[in-house]
Amino acid sequence: MSDDDQKPPKPEDFQKAMQEMFSKMPADMFSIPGMGATAAAEEAPPAEEVPSKADSVFDFDYLPRDIKAHLDRFVIQQDEAKKALSIAVCDHYNHAKYRRAAELEKGDAADTIELQKQNVIVVGPTGVGKTYLVKHIAELIGVPFVKADATKFSETGYVGGDVDDLVRELVQRAEGDVELAEYGIVYIDEIDKLASKGEMIGRDVSGRGVQTTLLKLMEETEVPLSNPMDIRGQMQAMMSMRGGGDAEPQKETINTRHILFIVSGAFSGLEKMVKKRLSAGQIGFGADQADVMGEKLFQQLETQDLIDFGFEAEFVGRLPVRVVCEKLKAKDLENILKYSEGSLLRQYEREFEAYGIQARFEADAITRIAEMAEKENTGARALMTVTERLLRDFKFELPGTSVSELTIDAGLIDDREARLKTYRELGKLVDVEKARSEMETFCRAFKEKHGVDLVFTDEALAKLAGEAAEQGRSLLQLCGQRFRDVQFGLKLIQKNTGRTSFEFGVESVEDPDKYLSDLVVQSYGGAAGGADAASDGTST
Ligand code: ADP
Repeated sequence: MSDDDQKPPKPEDFQKAMQEMFSKMPADMFSIPGMGATAAAEEAPPAEEVPSKADSVFDFDYLPRDIKAHLDRFVIQQDEAKKALSIAVCDHYNHAKYRRAAELEKGDAADTIELQKQNVIVVGPTGVGKTYLVKHIAELIGVPFVKADATKFSETGYVGGDVDDLVRELVQRAEGDVELAEYGIVYIDEIDKLASKGEMIGRDVSGRGVQTTLLKLMEETEVPLSNPMDIRGQMQAMMSMRGGGDAEPQKETINTRHILFIVSGAFSGLEKMVKKRLSAGQIGFGADQADVMGEKLFQQLETQDLIDFGFEAEFVGRLPVRVVCEKLKAKDLENILKYSEGSLLRQYEREFEAYGIQARFEADAITRIAEMAEKENTGARALMTVTERLLRDFKFELPGTSVSELTIDAGLIDDREARLKTYRELGKLVDVEKARSEMETFCRAFKEKHGVDLVFTDEALAKLAGEAAEQGRSLLQLCGQRFRDVQFGLKLIQKNTGRTSFEFGVESVEDPDKYLSDLVVQSYGGAAGGADAASDGTST
């Protein structure tokens, strides 16, 4: 089979064919569910103009140090990366602001303003905060943010279309606000996979193809709002064009001039190349010094290293800001747990709290978790993996028991089975305070529903709470089932005697139905005033 047989139609050809087809059809020929009929579109009132949120971008007045301070709240370490990104982002949005002001003042003449875009390349291993940094920057500035893996593009074989989809996704994230999307941030991870390393030249054609397409986006291009290969999108666009009457023509493309592109990757092997270059002769950088520099090698990264790694020189040239994120050590991971506002520990505490369990992480446990996570080699991501593995049994067994506090310390981590055993025993013990408050909740709900007060003696409460703990369920659940039908008997007694409050003693809670049927009989006989005559000797 020749190459031509496999190639999909070119988007432009497809678009043209569709346009021709539509132009030959009568305007009201058909309607498509969800799209509205053409005729209806003509009658529809013009959509109200929603102001673009892009105005907030033009009010941009952050200083690099403001942005870094914001990042410091969430991201531990990575100081150099935070600084470099803060500066790049400020330059980028200040430029957008400046250009906007010039456009308002000079109109098209603003086009003469030079723009060297500050697209960024972030180098660093997985799970060290690369995405997290960019996400928080986008949130702070209030621009849409889209992330994708570069590998997705090289695999499709159809180079071009997918990369444009990223820009269209920005519009979706901006809820259709095209102007705001034009100031969004596109983040592409695993960019190193697009490099055609020395030995692979000739094979990795699509990687190079994607580099070229990205290059266009990173500079400036117009991306159609609807994917030319998406039939539904195309039909929608054309129908709205035909049905639009005198309406203002809507914007059909997104300009990528002010979209900030940030690409990243682990670039394994690149360190060695930098080291080789440094030790190969630069004065002051013998092999020994390069060794001493260890992880700081990436800081010495030069354009040529990236080209040697397999990137097109032009591509590297469009990524002037180079940022390095360092590997996280156990101490950093510990600090992430302790100090990051997005700490996983808060999440775990909330999750236990949903079951009425107060979970508390002791400092020695945090150290242990961080040490275990470091060994996984997946950066801060490992914190989640490790914590989940350590606490899974506790999260399964404790909810619904009477355990209301969980202390996570090094002892628990070192011998989970022993601690689980203790908690299992504890789970069967009755927590009197908790039982009392659960019983109050039950009685309050009962009164609201049936208009009758239930009163339980201390002995009755202890007996019920003990049973609930024994069965591993909550007192509320047990009462809900045990006293499910008592209101019928209580209502009868109430009718016969006028009583509105009923006390339950230790014997009556064992079989409330039998107890109540005796009372009902008594209430009909008028003997000794109903419940007062109960075997428990209870009275109100
Ligand atoms: P990557 O570097 O692979 O893009 P991410 O930024 O997606 O990794 O990190 C994964 C998760 O780990 C983040 O959502 C965040 O919760 C946590 N994390 C990673 N690095 C840091 C860091 N330096 N400080 C605080 N949390 C971090």
